[in-house]
Amino acid sequence: MTRTPVAFTGRRPAGAGEGPAPGVAPGPTPPTARRGAPAGFHVLAKPSGPICNLDCSYCFFLEKEALYPGDRFRMSDDVLDNYVRQLLEAHVRPEVTVAWQGGEPTLMGAGFFRRALDACERHRRPGQRLAHTIQTNGTLLTDELCELFAANGFLVGISVDGPRELHDRYRVDKRGGPTFDKVMRGYELLRRHEVDTNILCTVHAANEERPLEVYRFFRDELGARHIQFIPIVEPAEDPTSPTGRRAGERSVSPAGWGRFLEAVFDEWVVCDVGAVFVSQFDAALASWAGVPPALCVFNETCGDALALEHNGDLYACDHFVDPEHLLGNILDTHMVDLVAAPAQRSFGRAKAELPGQCRRCDVRFACHGECPRNRFTATVDGEAGLNYLCAGYLSFFHHVDGPMRIMAGLLRDGRFADEVMGVLAGAGRNDPCPCGSGRKAKHCHQPLAARSGPRAGGGRAPGP
Ligand code: SF4
Ligand code: SF4
Repeated sequence: MTRTPVAFTGRRPAGAGEGPAPGVAPGPTPPTARRGAPAGFHVLAKPSGPICNLDCSYCFFLEKEALYPGDRFRMSDDVLDNYVRQLLEAHVRPEVTVAWQGGEPTLMGAGFFRRALDACERHRRPGQRLAHTIQTNGTLLTDELCELFAANGFLVGISVDGPRELHDRYRVDKRGGPTFDKVMRGYELLRRHEVDTNILCTVHAANEERPLEVYRFFRDELGARHIQFIPIVEPAEDPTSPTGRRAGERSVSPAGWGRFLEAVFDEWVVCDVGAVFVSQFDAALASWAGVPPALCVFNETCGDALALEHNGDLYACDHFVDPEHLLGNILDTHMVDLVAAPAQRSFGRAKAELPGQCRRCDVRFACHGECPRNRFTATVDGEAGLNYLCAGYLSFFHHVDGPMRIMAGLLRDGRFADEVMGVLAGAGRNDPCPCGSGRKAKHCHQPLAARSGPRAGGGRAPGP
C-alpha cells in the first residue's frame, strides 16, 4: 500500500555484503555527478504493476490498472536488467536499496527475484552495498521465497492491520472474504526462515480507536520489532468543500490519528525504546536531534522516492502514479536523467511550499506539512493547502515534546535513547515529571512506567 521503510534507528543495513561478487567486472563509471542527480535516491519498483490477489477496500492501487489498458502487468527481463543496471549506475553513495512493491510483487514468483539478484550481482560496482526490501500482503509466501529472502538478507514488510477482527475489516480477498489466517501463515513462514520483517499497519476508521490492542498484538503476539503505521486517507470528491475534496469514509480521522500515535508512544517510551522500532517515533527523534528523518513525509522537501512501473515508466512518487507525474521510460532515457529532470526537482521542492498556518507552526520542524497528497483542506484563515491530518500531527508532536527533548539530550551527551525509560521512571511520585509537562510525576509518565516497566531484553539504540 505504501513505501517500504528501509532505515530504522540502530538497524543494520540488510544487504548482499561488501564488494563485488567474484568474477564480476566493475560497472561503468556512475554518471550521477555530471548529471546533477542526488547522490542517492529510492525507487519502489512494481514488477506486477498494481495487480494484487487481494481486494483491500481502501487500496488505491487497483484503479491504476486503467493507466495500462490490456496490459499483462509483468516486468520483462529487459526492463528488469535495465532497471537494476541503471539504479546501480546512478548511485554515488555506496548504499543502494533495491525495493519491490505492488500490487503484490510475490505474484512474480521466486524465479523473478532470482533473476533480479543475478542482475544485482552482474551490475554491482566495487564497494556498493545493496539492501533488498519487499513489501507483501504475505498470502502467497512459500518456503522457496522465504529461503531466497533469508539467504539474501531481504527486509520483508508484511501488511497486517492488527488482530483478526481489525485486520479482516478492510483487508479482504477478491470475494470479500477474510485474509487474516493466510497472512499469519505467511508471517510464520518468514519467522521460521528467520527473515527480517517489518510490520506495516494501516490506521483507518476501523482500528483508530484501538491503538494499544493493535500495538500489543504486534509486539506480544507477533514478536514484532519493527513497525510502521500508515494513515489511510482515501481521496474523495466533495463539491461542497472549499477545496472540492474530502477524505473518504474509511479514512482515519485527524484527531484519531493523533490519539493513536500518542497512545502507542506513551507505552513505547516507558518500556520499549531500543527494543521496538516504530518508524514515526524514530523520525520524530531524528527531527528533535536535528538530523533528517528517514521518512520522506517529514522532510522539508522530497522528490527522491520514485516509483517504477512494470514496463519501465518512472513516476515522481508512488502516490503520484498518474500521467501528469510520468517522468519517462527508462528504456528510452537513463534513470539518472529522469531523477535529475527539472520536473522532478521542482516536484520535490514544492513540498516546502506551505500555507501560513504551517509556516507559523511551532512543530513545523518535525512535520513539514507531511505529504502533499494529503494537503486538501483549508487553514483557519481559509487558505488552501493544509494537510487533512494537521490536527493529529499538531497534537502528537506537542504530546511527545518532553520525552523527545530528553532523548535528544541523551544522544547529544553521547548516551543512549533508551535511557529515557529510567529517567521517566526515576522521579518521586510528587516530583515534577522529568518530561517537563509541569505535572507531578504521579499524574504524568510515572503511572505508565509503573504499569509497564522496562521490558526485559530491551536493546540499546543510539538515536538516528
Ligand atoms: S509526495 Fe513526497 S512526501 Fe509524499 S510520499 Fe511522495 S515523496 Fe514522500
Ligand atoms: S502540524 Fe499542522 S500546521 Fe503544523 S506543520 Fe503540520 S500540518 Fe502544518
